[in-house]
Amino acid sequence: MYQKGRAWIELDLEHLKHNAAEFCRLLPWDCALMPAVKANAYGHGAVLTAKALQEQGIHAFCVASASEGIELRQGGITGELLVLGYTHPSQFDDLLTYDLTQTVVDGVYAQELKRDGRRFTVHVGIDTGMHRLGERWEHLEEIVKIFQIPNLNVTGVFSHLCVSDGESTQARAYTLEQIRHFDYVVEELHRQGFHDFKCHLQGSYGILNYSEYCFDYARVGIALYGVLSEKNDRLYQEITLKPVLSLKARVGSIRTLYQGEGTGYGLTYSAEENRRIAVLTIGYADGLPRNLSNSGYILCNGKMAPIVGRICMDQMMVDVTEIPQVHPGDEAVLIGKSGDLEIRAEDLAQWSGTISNEIVSRLGERLERVGKCHMGV
Ligand SMILES: *Cc1c(COP(=O)(O)O)cnc(C)c1O
Repeated sequence: MYQKGRAWIELDLEHLKHNAAEFCRLLPWDCALMPAVKANAYGHGAVLTAKALQEQGIHAFCVASASEGIELRQGGITGELLVLGYTHPSQFDDLLTYDLTQTVVDGVYAQELKRDGRRFTVHVGIDTGMHRLGERWEHLEEIVKIFQIPNLNVTGVFSHLCVSDGESTQARAYTLEQIRHFDYVVEELHRQGFHDFKCHLQGSYGILNYSEYCFDYARVGIALYGVLSEKNDRLYQEITLKPVLSLKARVGSIRTLYQGEGTGYGLTYSAEENRRIAVLTIGYADGLPRNLSNSGYILCNGKMAPIVGRICMDQMMVDVTEIPQVHPGDEAVLIGKSGDLEIRAEDLAQWSGTISNEIVSRLGERLERVGKCHMGV
Protein backbone atom coordinates (compact mmCIF):
# COMPACT_ATOMS: atom_id res chain seq x y z
CA MET A 1 0.00 0.00 0.00
CA TYR A 2 1.01 3.60 -0.54
CA GLN A 3 1.61 5.42 2.72
CA LYS A 4 2.49 8.97 3.70
CA GLY A 5 6.00 7.95 2.75
CA ARG A 6 5.45 8.52 -0.95
CA ALA A 7 2.90 11.18 -1.85
CA TRP A 8 0.04 12.48 0.24
CA ILE A 9 -2.51 15.17 0.99
CA GLU A 10 -2.51 17.08 4.28
CA LEU A 11 -5.83 18.55 5.32
CA ASP A 12 -6.10 21.53 7.61
CA LEU A 13 -9.58 21.16 9.05
CA GLU A 14 -9.20 24.36 11.07
CA HIS A 15 -8.94 26.18 7.76
CA LEU A 16 -12.09 24.44 6.55
CA LYS A 17 -13.94 25.63 9.63
CA HIS A 18 -12.55 29.15 9.18
CA ASN A 19 -13.79 29.24 5.57
CA ALA A 20 -17.23 27.97 6.58
CA ALA A 21 -17.42 30.73 9.21
CA GLU A 22 -16.38 33.33 6.60
CA PHE A 23 -19.24 32.25 4.35
CA CYS A 24 -21.70 32.37 7.21
CA ARG A 25 -20.52 35.93 7.83
CA LEU A 26 -21.13 36.90 4.19
CA LEU A 27 -24.59 35.37 4.00
CA PRO A 28 -27.75 36.60 5.71
CA TRP A 29 -28.48 34.77 8.98
CA ASP A 30 -31.40 32.82 7.56
CA CYS A 31 -29.38 31.27 4.74
CA ALA A 32 -27.68 27.97 5.63
CA LEU A 33 -24.68 26.41 3.93
CA MET A 34 -25.28 23.25 1.93
CA PRO A 35 -21.69 22.41 0.99
CA ALA A 36 -20.92 20.57 -2.23
CA VAL A 37 -18.89 17.54 -1.13
CA LYS A 38 -19.13 15.81 -4.50
CA ALA A 39 -16.08 14.27 -6.19
CA ASN A 40 -14.67 13.15 -2.85
CA ALA A 41 -15.15 16.69 -1.51
CA TYR A 42 -13.17 18.12 -4.43
CA GLY A 43 -10.41 15.62 -3.73
CA HIS A 44 -10.22 16.45 -0.01
CA GLY A 45 -11.90 13.26 1.22
CA ALA A 46 -15.71 13.27 1.41
CA VAL A 47 -16.31 11.65 4.80
CA LEU A 48 -13.49 13.48 6.56
CA THR A 49 -14.63 16.83 5.20
CA ALA A 50 -18.36 16.34 5.77
CA LYS A 51 -17.72 15.12 9.32
CA ALA A 52 -15.72 18.25 10.16
CA LEU A 53 -18.51 20.41 8.72
CA GLN A 54 -21.18 18.42 10.54
CA GLU A 55 -19.34 19.16 13.80
CA GLN A 56 -19.60 22.84 12.83
CA GLY A 57 -23.39 22.51 12.77
CA ILE A 58 -23.83 22.06 9.02
CA HIS A 59 -26.58 19.56 8.26
CA ALA A 60 -27.17 19.56 4.51
CA PHE A 61 -24.77 18.51 1.76
CA CYS A 62 -24.76 18.11 -2.02
CA VAL A 63 -23.26 15.14 -3.84
CA ALA A 64 -23.12 14.22 -7.51
CA SER A 65 -24.42 10.65 -7.35
CA ALA A 66 -26.29 8.17 -5.21
CA SER A 67 -23.04 6.27 -4.62
CA GLU A 68 -21.42 9.39 -3.16
CA GLY A 69 -24.44 9.76 -0.90
CA ILE A 70 -24.10 6.15 0.28
CA GLU A 71 -20.44 6.68 1.14
CA LEU A 72 -21.37 9.64 3.34
CA ARG A 73 -24.20 7.77 5.07
CA GLN A 74 -21.90 4.82 5.75
CA GLY A 75 -19.37 7.30 7.13
CA GLY A 76 -21.89 8.58 9.66
CA ILE A 77 -23.24 11.71 7.96
CA THR A 78 -26.82 12.46 8.97
CA GLY A 79 -29.01 15.32 7.75
CA GLU A 80 -30.04 16.08 4.20
CA LEU A 81 -28.02 14.69 1.27
CA LEU A 82 -29.04 16.04 -2.11
CA VAL A 83 -28.01 14.13 -5.24
CA LEU A 84 -27.47 16.92 -7.78
CA GLY A 85 -27.44 14.73 -10.90
CA TYR A 86 -29.33 11.97 -12.66
CA THR A 87 -29.81 8.66 -10.87
CA HIS A 88 -30.65 5.62 -13.00
CA PRO A 89 -33.80 3.72 -11.94
CA SER A 90 -31.61 0.71 -11.07
CA GLN A 91 -30.36 2.82 -8.13
CA PHE A 92 -33.76 4.03 -6.91
CA ASP A 93 -33.53 1.45 -4.10
CA ASP A 94 -30.46 3.26 -2.79
CA LEU A 95 -32.28 6.59 -2.67
CA LEU A 96 -34.78 5.05 -0.25
CA THR A 97 -32.42 2.83 1.73
CA TYR A 98 -30.00 5.68 2.40
CA ASP A 99 -32.54 8.48 2.68
CA LEU A 100 -31.13 10.53 -0.20
CA THR A 101 -32.91 13.50 -1.75
CA GLN A 102 -32.97 13.17 -5.53
CA THR A 103 -32.94 16.02 -8.03
CA VAL A 104 -35.77 15.97 -10.56
CA VAL A 105 -33.61 16.71 -13.58
CA ASP A 106 -36.59 17.46 -15.89
CA GLY A 107 -40.24 16.66 -16.55
CA VAL A 108 -39.44 13.35 -18.25
CA TYR A 109 -37.51 12.21 -15.18
CA ALA A 110 -40.43 13.20 -12.95
CA GLN A 111 -42.57 10.71 -14.92
CA GLU A 112 -39.94 8.02 -14.37
CA LEU A 113 -40.11 8.59 -10.61
CA LYS A 114 -43.92 8.63 -10.76
CA ARG A 115 -44.00 5.32 -12.66
CA ASP A 116 -41.90 3.67 -9.95
CA GLY A 117 -44.60 4.59 -7.46
CA ARG A 118 -42.51 4.56 -4.29
CA ARG A 119 -42.27 7.71 -2.18
CA PHE A 120 -39.17 9.72 -3.09
CA THR A 121 -37.96 12.91 -1.48
CA VAL A 122 -36.89 15.31 -4.22
CA HIS A 123 -35.71 18.80 -5.05
CA VAL A 124 -36.98 20.06 -8.39
CA GLY A 125 -34.30 21.45 -10.69
CA ILE A 126 -35.23 24.60 -12.60
CA ASP A 127 -33.39 25.65 -15.74
CA THR A 128 -33.08 29.44 -15.52
CA GLY A 129 -30.53 29.80 -18.32
CA MET A 130 -27.67 27.33 -17.97
CA HIS A 131 -29.51 24.79 -20.11
CA ARG A 132 -27.98 21.77 -18.45
CA LEU A 133 -30.47 20.37 -15.96
CA GLY A 134 -33.89 21.27 -14.67
CA GLU A 135 -37.33 21.94 -16.09
CA ARG A 136 -37.38 25.25 -17.97
CA TRP A 137 -38.48 28.18 -15.81
CA GLU A 138 -41.06 29.18 -18.44
CA HIS A 139 -42.81 25.81 -18.08
CA LEU A 140 -44.63 26.70 -14.91
CA GLU A 141 -47.46 24.25 -15.56
CA GLU A 142 -44.95 21.42 -15.92
CA ILE A 143 -43.27 22.45 -12.68
CA VAL A 144 -46.60 22.55 -10.84
CA LYS A 145 -47.41 19.10 -12.22
CA ILE A 146 -44.22 17.76 -10.69
CA PHE A 147 -45.30 19.17 -7.31
CA GLN A 148 -48.62 17.35 -7.73
CA ILE A 149 -47.19 13.88 -8.36
CA PRO A 150 -48.60 11.96 -5.37
CA ASN A 151 -45.52 9.83 -4.62
CA LEU A 152 -43.08 12.76 -4.71
CA ASN A 153 -42.24 14.57 -1.49
CA VAL A 154 -40.95 17.85 -2.92
CA THR A 155 -38.84 19.52 -0.25
CA GLY A 156 -36.89 21.92 -2.44
CA VAL A 157 -36.52 23.85 -5.68
CA PHE A 158 -33.19 24.94 -7.07
CA SER A 159 -31.37 26.33 -10.05
CA HIS A 160 -27.73 26.92 -10.97
CA LEU A 161 -25.93 30.03 -12.21
CA CYS A 162 -23.58 29.65 -15.16
CA VAL A 163 -21.77 33.00 -15.41
CA SER A 164 -21.81 34.21 -11.81
CA ASP A 165 -17.99 34.35 -11.86
CA GLY A 166 -18.05 36.75 -14.81
CA GLU A 167 -17.35 40.40 -14.19
CA SER A 168 -18.52 41.77 -17.54
CA THR A 169 -21.73 43.76 -17.85
CA GLN A 170 -23.23 40.94 -19.93
CA ALA A 171 -22.38 38.30 -17.34
CA ARG A 172 -23.91 40.38 -14.56
CA ALA A 173 -27.03 41.07 -16.59
CA TYR A 174 -27.39 37.37 -17.45
CA THR A 175 -27.01 36.33 -13.82
CA LEU A 176 -29.58 38.89 -12.68
CA GLU A 177 -31.95 37.48 -15.31
CA GLN A 178 -31.39 33.97 -13.96
CA ILE A 179 -32.10 35.20 -10.44
CA ARG A 180 -35.27 36.94 -11.69
CA HIS A 181 -36.46 33.76 -13.42
CA PHE A 182 -35.84 31.73 -10.27
CA ASP A 183 -37.69 34.28 -8.12
CA TYR A 184 -40.59 34.18 -10.54
CA VAL A 185 -40.91 30.39 -10.26
CA VAL A 186 -40.72 30.49 -6.47
CA GLU A 187 -43.30 33.30 -6.26
CA GLU A 188 -45.68 31.49 -8.59
CA LEU A 189 -45.38 28.28 -6.59
CA HIS A 190 -46.19 30.20 -3.42
CA ARG A 191 -49.14 31.87 -5.17
CA GLN A 192 -50.46 28.45 -6.14
CA GLY A 193 -50.36 27.27 -2.55
CA PHE A 194 -47.02 25.46 -2.33
CA HIS A 195 -45.06 26.76 0.64
CA ASP A 196 -43.31 23.88 2.26
CA PHE A 197 -40.08 23.74 0.27
CA LYS A 198 -36.56 25.18 0.43
CA CYS A 199 -34.96 27.27 -2.34
CA HIS A 200 -31.34 27.47 -3.37
CA LEU A 201 -29.46 28.98 -6.27
CA GLN A 202 -25.91 30.04 -5.47
CA GLY A 203 -22.59 28.21 -5.62
CA SER A 204 -19.32 29.82 -4.52
CA TYR A 205 -19.26 32.65 -7.04
CA GLY A 206 -22.99 33.22 -6.68
CA ILE A 207 -22.43 33.85 -2.98
CA LEU A 208 -19.28 35.93 -3.46
CA ASN A 209 -20.62 38.15 -6.24
CA TYR A 210 -24.32 38.20 -5.37
CA SER A 211 -24.36 37.88 -1.59
CA GLU A 212 -27.30 40.29 -1.32
CA TYR A 213 -29.56 37.64 -2.89
CA CYS A 214 -30.42 35.09 -0.31
CA PHE A 215 -32.34 31.89 -0.42
CA ASP A 216 -32.67 29.09 2.14
CA TYR A 217 -29.44 27.33 1.24
CA ALA A 218 -26.17 28.22 -0.50
CA ARG A 219 -24.36 25.36 -2.21
CA VAL A 220 -20.80 26.44 -1.58
CA GLY A 221 -18.14 24.26 -3.20
CA ILE A 222 -14.66 25.26 -4.32
CA ALA A 223 -14.31 28.37 -2.14
CA LEU A 224 -15.14 26.44 1.02
CA TYR A 225 -11.92 24.55 0.43
CA GLY A 226 -10.11 27.88 0.55
CA VAL A 227 -9.47 28.16 -3.16
CA LEU A 228 -11.00 30.15 -5.99
CA SER A 229 -11.33 28.69 -9.48
CA GLU A 230 -8.79 31.24 -10.71
CA LYS A 231 -6.75 33.96 -9.05
CA ASN A 232 -8.85 36.99 -8.22
CA ASP A 233 -7.29 39.83 -6.27
CA ARG A 234 -10.61 41.62 -5.81
CA LEU A 235 -12.25 38.61 -4.13
CA TYR A 236 -9.18 37.82 -2.02
CA GLN A 237 -9.76 41.28 -0.48
CA GLU A 238 -13.38 40.56 0.33
CA ILE A 239 -13.00 37.20 1.98
CA THR A 240 -10.09 35.52 3.71
CA LEU A 241 -9.97 32.03 2.32
CA LYS A 242 -7.44 29.63 3.79
CA PRO A 243 -6.48 26.65 1.61
CA VAL A 244 -7.43 23.39 3.30
CA LEU A 245 -5.31 21.08 1.19
CA SER A 246 -1.57 20.66 0.81
CA LEU A 247 -0.08 18.18 -1.66
CA LYS A 248 3.31 16.69 -0.86
CA ALA A 249 5.70 14.06 -2.12
CA ARG A 250 9.27 12.91 -1.48
CA VAL A 251 12.56 13.47 -3.18
CA GLY A 252 13.42 9.96 -4.33
CA SER A 253 16.75 10.53 -6.03
CA ILE A 254 19.19 13.35 -6.74
CA ARG A 255 21.27 13.17 -9.87
CA THR A 256 23.46 15.27 -12.06
CA LEU A 257 22.40 16.15 -15.56
CA TYR A 258 25.52 17.05 -17.48
CA GLN A 259 25.55 19.80 -20.06
CA GLY A 260 23.63 18.76 -23.17
CA GLU A 261 21.86 15.80 -21.53
CA GLY A 262 18.07 15.53 -21.41
CA THR A 263 15.76 14.01 -18.82
CA GLY A 264 12.53 12.06 -18.97
CA TYR A 265 10.32 10.76 -21.78
CA GLY A 266 10.97 12.50 -25.07
CA LEU A 267 13.98 14.25 -23.54
CA THR A 268 11.91 17.44 -23.75
CA TYR A 269 14.22 19.26 -21.35
CA SER A 270 17.92 19.42 -21.87
CA ALA A 271 20.54 21.03 -19.67
CA GLU A 272 22.43 24.04 -21.04
CA GLU A 273 24.96 23.54 -18.28
CA ASN A 274 25.42 20.97 -15.54
CA ARG A 275 22.26 20.81 -13.39
CA ARG A 276 21.18 18.94 -10.27
CA ILE A 277 17.89 17.17 -10.74
CA ALA A 278 15.61 15.77 -8.03
CA VAL A 279 13.18 12.99 -8.92
CA LEU A 280 9.89 13.28 -7.00
CA THR A 281 7.59 10.42 -6.03
CA ILE A 282 4.42 11.75 -7.63
CA GLY A 283 3.08 11.80 -11.17
CA TYR A 284 0.01 12.14 -13.35
CA ALA A 285 -1.57 8.95 -12.00
CA ASP A 286 -1.83 10.82 -8.70
CA GLY A 287 -3.84 13.53 -10.47
CA LEU A 288 -1.16 16.01 -11.47
CA PRO A 289 -1.86 17.36 -14.95
CA ARG A 290 0.66 16.04 -17.48
CA ASN A 291 0.78 19.45 -19.09
CA LEU A 292 2.62 20.78 -16.06
CA SER A 293 5.59 19.32 -17.94
CA ASN A 294 8.34 21.95 -18.20
CA SER A 295 6.16 24.60 -16.56
CA GLY A 296 5.73 25.83 -13.02
CA TYR A 297 7.70 24.83 -9.96
CA ILE A 298 7.52 23.02 -6.65
CA LEU A 299 8.86 24.01 -3.20
CA CYS A 300 11.61 22.24 -1.34
CA ASN A 301 13.28 23.46 1.86
CA GLY A 302 11.62 26.86 1.46
CA LYS A 303 12.90 27.38 -2.10
CA MET A 304 11.49 27.10 -5.62
CA ALA A 305 12.52 24.28 -7.93
CA PRO A 306 11.34 24.47 -11.57
CA ILE A 307 9.60 21.43 -13.07
CA VAL A 308 11.75 20.00 -15.86
CA GLY A 309 10.93 17.34 -18.42
CA ARG A 310 7.64 15.52 -18.83
CA ILE A 311 5.55 14.51 -15.85
CA CYS A 312 5.61 10.68 -15.74
CA MET A 313 2.85 8.44 -14.44
CA ASP A 314 4.37 8.04 -10.97
CA GLN A 315 7.36 10.40 -10.91
CA MET A 316 8.50 13.83 -12.04
CA MET A 317 11.74 15.77 -12.20
CA VAL A 318 12.61 19.20 -10.80
CA ASP A 319 15.74 21.31 -10.99
CA VAL A 320 17.29 21.77 -7.53
CA THR A 321 20.61 23.25 -8.67
CA GLU A 322 19.89 26.45 -6.70
CA ILE A 323 18.80 24.64 -3.54
CA PRO A 324 21.69 23.49 -1.38
CA GLN A 325 21.14 20.59 1.00
CA VAL A 326 18.43 18.58 -0.75
CA HIS A 327 18.51 14.89 0.12
CA PRO A 328 16.57 11.79 -0.80
CA GLY A 329 13.60 11.52 1.56
CA ASP A 330 13.11 15.29 1.80
CA GLU A 331 9.61 16.68 1.46
CA ALA A 332 8.56 18.37 -1.79
CA VAL A 333 5.53 20.68 -1.70
CA LEU A 334 3.36 20.79 -4.83
CA ILE A 335 0.49 22.69 -3.21
CA GLY A 336 0.98 24.44 0.11
CA LYS A 337 3.66 26.24 2.09
CA SER A 338 7.36 25.71 2.54
CA GLY A 339 9.21 28.34 4.56
CA ASP A 340 7.92 31.73 3.43
CA LEU A 341 6.77 30.52 0.04
CA GLU A 342 3.40 29.16 -0.98
CA ILE A 343 2.00 27.47 -4.07
CA ARG A 344 -1.78 27.60 -4.35
CA ALA A 345 -4.03 25.33 -6.37
CA GLU A 346 -4.78 28.45 -8.44
CA ASP A 347 -1.09 28.54 -9.45
CA LEU A 348 -1.09 24.93 -10.61
CA ALA A 349 -4.32 25.63 -12.47
CA GLN A 350 -2.77 28.61 -14.24
CA TRP A 351 0.38 26.70 -15.21
CA SER A 352 -1.61 23.85 -16.67
CA GLY A 353 -4.37 25.89 -18.31
CA THR A 354 -7.35 24.84 -16.20
CA ILE A 355 -9.24 25.85 -13.05
CA SER A 356 -8.36 24.83 -9.52
CA ASN A 357 -11.61 22.85 -9.26
CA GLU A 358 -10.23 20.39 -11.80
CA ILE A 359 -6.81 20.27 -10.14
CA VAL A 360 -8.08 19.33 -6.69
CA SER A 361 -11.00 17.12 -7.69
CA ARG A 362 -8.72 14.87 -9.75
CA LEU A 363 -6.21 14.21 -6.99
CA GLY A 364 -6.07 10.45 -6.92
CA GLU A 365 -7.00 7.52 -4.76
CA ARG A 366 -3.35 6.66 -4.32
CA LEU A 367 -2.75 9.72 -2.16
CA GLU A 368 -3.30 9.20 1.51
CA ARG A 369 -5.32 11.98 3.15
CA VAL A 370 -4.08 12.94 6.58
CA GLY A 371 -5.32 15.55 9.05
CA LYS A 372 -2.78 18.25 9.88
CA CYS A 373 -2.06 18.94 13.54
CA HIS A 374 -1.99 22.48 14.87
CA MET A 375 0.91 22.31 17.27
CA GLY A 376 0.70 25.11 19.79
CA VAL A 377 -1.23 27.41 17.46
C1 LIG B 1 -20.67 21.71 -8.07
C2 LIG B 1 -21.93 22.46 -7.88
C3 LIG B 1 -21.99 23.50 -6.94
C4 LIG B 1 -20.78 24.03 -6.21
O1 LIG B 1 -20.09 24.88 -7.10
P1 LIG B 1 -18.77 25.70 -6.71
O2 LIG B 1 -18.57 26.62 -7.85
O3 LIG B 1 -17.67 24.72 -6.56
O4 LIG B 1 -19.07 26.42 -5.44
C5 LIG B 1 -23.22 24.08 -6.71
N1 LIG B 1 -24.32 23.68 -7.39
C6 LIG B 1 -24.29 22.71 -8.32
C7 LIG B 1 -25.54 22.33 -9.03
C8 LIG B 1 -23.09 22.07 -8.60
O5 LIG B 1 -23.07 21.12 -9.55
